[in-house]
Amino acid sequence: PYTTRLDRFISQNSDCSMADTRLLLAQRRIVLDGIVADSVQQAVTKFTRVELDGVCLQSEQPVYLALNKPAGVLSATKDTKHPTILDLVQHPRKDELHIAGRLDFNTTGLVLLTNDGAWSRRISSPQTKLPKTYEVSVSEPLSGEYVAAFQSGIYFAYEGITTLPARLEILSAYRARLSLVEGKYHQVKRMFGAFQNKVLALHRVSVGPVCLGDLEPGAARPVGASELAEIS
Ligand code: URA
Repeated sequence: PYTTRLDRFISQNSDCSMADTRLLLAQRRIVLDGIVADSVQQAVTKFTRVELDGVCLQSEQPVYLALNKPAGVLSATKDTKHPTILDLVQHPRKDELHIAGRLDFNTTGLVLLTNDGAWSRRISSPQTKLPKTYEVSVSEPLSGEYVAAFQSGIYFAYEGITTLPARLEILSAYRARLSLVEGKYHQVKRMFGAFQNKVLALHRVSVGPVCLGDLEPGAARPVGASELAEIS
């Protein structure tokens, strides 16, 4: 990820060298996020506010948005034929944003947007074990068999992988709630496809601690500080 050591950062962003950095530290002339720096090894990311003699050398504001994707909108930043998620966003820094976990064209619900690449990688990585929860409507009746099969994993022959344990809660004959910690290509549709069961509607209601709530289709809101604190 985009993280560097303070002395390297100073040499790349000022007329001081890496070797000069020790002296600057001793003179208490470098401030990171409001605190006087004390080590050449301190980590600097693009969101760290670095000041030298009170002059800001860099700081980018991280942006985290939750959006309710309507059907018929592409999870892309630009497209000539279809409206995209970014077309729905009004934000002064919208050009910096990327999508943390895309949804299919007709899938609806929660999409997260950010300019923080480390954060979006954390969201998507199965290692983080952040559940992505979907409400699913299908064409054929559901049974307990699905619950067991999704828990043990479904084999995807094309990639030669088995899906990680997923939690399925059957809500009614044709509706269920499914939680995944990963996002393979068309994963939900292919998991039900293993039973020759067609997904008719797919709606993402949450990603980890971030819930769609009563966000209107097409609308976006900032992800709150308490939600952010739970994703680390
Ligand atoms: N699984 C799918 O098949 N489609 C989505 O949009 C998300 C998960």
